[in-house]
Amino acid sequence: MPQPTALRDALLVKPGSRFRLAELDPDATFGYDKDGATPRIEAQLQKMAELQDRFWAEGKRSLLVVLQGIDAAGKDGTIQKVMEAFNPQGCIVSSFKVPTSEELGHDFLWRIHKRTPGKGEISIFNRSHYEDVLIVRVHDLVPKEVWSKRYDQINEFERMLDANRVKILKFFLHVSRDEQAKRMRDRLSDPKENWKFRAGDLEDRALWDEYTKAYRDALRLCSTPWAPWYMVPADDKKARDYYIARTVVDTLEGLGLKYPKASKEVLKLKRKLK
Ligand code: AMP
Ligand code: MG
Repeated sequence: MPQPTALRDALLVKPGSRFRLAELDPDATFGYDKDGATPRIEAQLQKMAELQDRFWAEGKRSLLVVLQGIDAAGKDGTIQKVMEAFNPQGCIVSSFKVPTSEELGHDFLWRIHKRTPGKGEISIFNRSHYEDVLIVRVHDLVPKEVWSKRYDQINEFERMLDANRVKILKFFLHVSRDEQAKRMRDRLSDPKENWKFRAGDLEDRALWDEYTKAYRDALRLCSTPWAPWYMVPADDKKARDYYIARTVVDTLEGLGLKYPKASKEVLKLKRKLK
């Protein structure tokens, strides 16, 4: 089993690297044993809860977790199974949908900036500003000369957040075409899942190669030292949950979080209580 940092390194998209998404296995294990995954995930979730408590108490910095992936890649599942470890007090989930006319009347980062986390808070983005170089690019919603400038704009925006003590973690949930087809069939056949299916999902599935190119560029051009992208093999849901939970834990542990020291007043009260 790899050490946490080794796992994080294996998932990391190296800044400036050239890679092809098709070459990365959506079912890679990195030596991780899928059997008996549940208790191992539980142990990571426990750590996430403890670390968040310290993070909130410290109140000095913020965490932004970005989840991206094609339809049925498991963004909602990740929030349900992994992010549930966080206390809702101090954790906000934002789901970015087709922009409203008010949002379209502003620059593409306007609606994003409003949802970034405050001090001590954790923000989870279910889709994000990356849609503006993904669906927008694939469906020609703005001209190339507009979307092609956005990679640099995103990097600068994220650099500014990082300089303001917002730690950024971006996860790309990587599923295979076959696994997406299977999940879409499940959505169509289970009445409780029908609502998750949009007619447009099939249209987007037909644009698989275009999405693959757009994702490759988003990952390649916007994995930076201050806001790295992690590629998460996501065909296996338990493996996906484990990789993400462990990367979050490893990152939070690396921050050296500390509970604030008791104030003079509290120390005085403590002595009185003795
Ligand atoms: P879902 O996440 O399944 O609820 O779907 C939300 C839809 O909104 C997806 O098809 C996204 O691609 C789309 N969407 C999100 N952000 C944007 C954007 N900036 N421009 C156009 N469509 C978007
Ligand atoms: Mg959807």
